Amino acid sequence: MKLFFLGLDGCAAQIMYERELPNVRKLLDRCSFQACMAEEAFPYTGPSWTNIYTGMTAEHHGVTDLWGREGENSNSYDSIPDPMIWEMLNQAGLSTGVIHMPVSTASRKVDGYIVSGFPNEIAHDGPVGELMPLLAARDISDLIRLTPRDRVLDNSWYRRYSLEESLDIMRTIVEWKIKALRILSKTRPVDCLFVQYSFLDRVGHLLNQYLRVCDGEDWDYSPVLETYDWMDGIMGELVDIGVDYDNLVIVSDHGWPAEAGKPYIFDGKVFGAWHSHDGVLMMSGPDVEAGRKEMCMNHDVAAKTLALLGLEYSQLVQTTVAKPAHVAAGAKKPDANQVEERLRALGYGICRGYLTPP
Ligand SMILES: [Zn+2]
Repeated sequence: MKLFFLGLDGCAAQIMYERELPNVRKLLDRCSFQACMAEEAFPYTGPSWTNIYTGMTAEHHGVTDLWGREGENSNSYDSIPDPMIWEMLNQAGLSTGVIHMPVSTASRKVDGYIVSGFPNEIAHDGPVGELMPLLAARDISDLIRLTPRDRVLDNSWYRRYSLEESLDIMRTIVEWKIKALRILSKTRPVDCLFVQYSFLDRVGHLLNQYLRVCDGEDWDYSPVLETYDWMDGIMGELVDIGVDYDNLVIVSDHGWPAEAGKPYIFDGKVFGAWHSHDGVLMMSGPDVEAGRKEMCMNHDVAAKTLALLGLEYSQLVQTTVAKPAHVAAGAKKPDANQVEERLRALGYGICRGYLTPP
């Protein structure tokens, strides 16, 4: 395999590069690494990942929504006319596998396969809207995919499980996903594999949710840092997916503060902490000189990744024929029944407002 591209939503440069994480340190010793900054105005998952995928800023690709949803003047993965990095690689004759890259959907064709991130074709009203939290959570966090069977759809599931239980579930899901990827990478070989995990982002948001449950009492920030420690223990498994690859890229869309002494109130809501701008970019390969580099912007990642493979971004972005916006806009959106039918076909049951996993 030519490229393994590992996305870690919410992975902060400050924590990743400065905390005592022995296995990360070993990896850094053989990588070029730097802070990879989110745009000042858009330190959010949707625009940030789209910067990474396209090599453009939000001003150019038009995805400005937090979750990369269409509407309110935001483009989505479905509607932007610009090519994604995996489409550029296809153009260069390389096959790609794309797993859980945030805001991606299966709406665009790839030479290889795509298991999408956010299902952003789904509207936010009616019965389909009710499914949205679960679908989104399933795709963005790995956490909910197989969480306990009576998980409620109103996104208040965290009121039913202790923080410890939720973290346990999340870790279990990540471990299962690693196992699944090892099988997939061998049985469906591709030239370039893109995989994303959201647990670092998720743990920060989880803490905020639990904080609201207890109205800001007993605030404890340590689970965020402990999740990095836990990740360090499985770093080898995250990076070694069971096949050889020539080049490795590890990247995040934004960071999360390394410290947050006490919760703050914003807009009447209690928050523990929220996204920081400092994502990570780590690269290794035969032509990469190891060591810490100056910070870069996240829209530099596409060009840097292509350069690792000896490809030129400026040429590929010109020649790649991306999905034109009008095709996506004219595409028929699935109605509520269709979506529920699809979920049932996947083995999900829907019962009294609860969605039960297969
Ligand atoms: Zn994010």
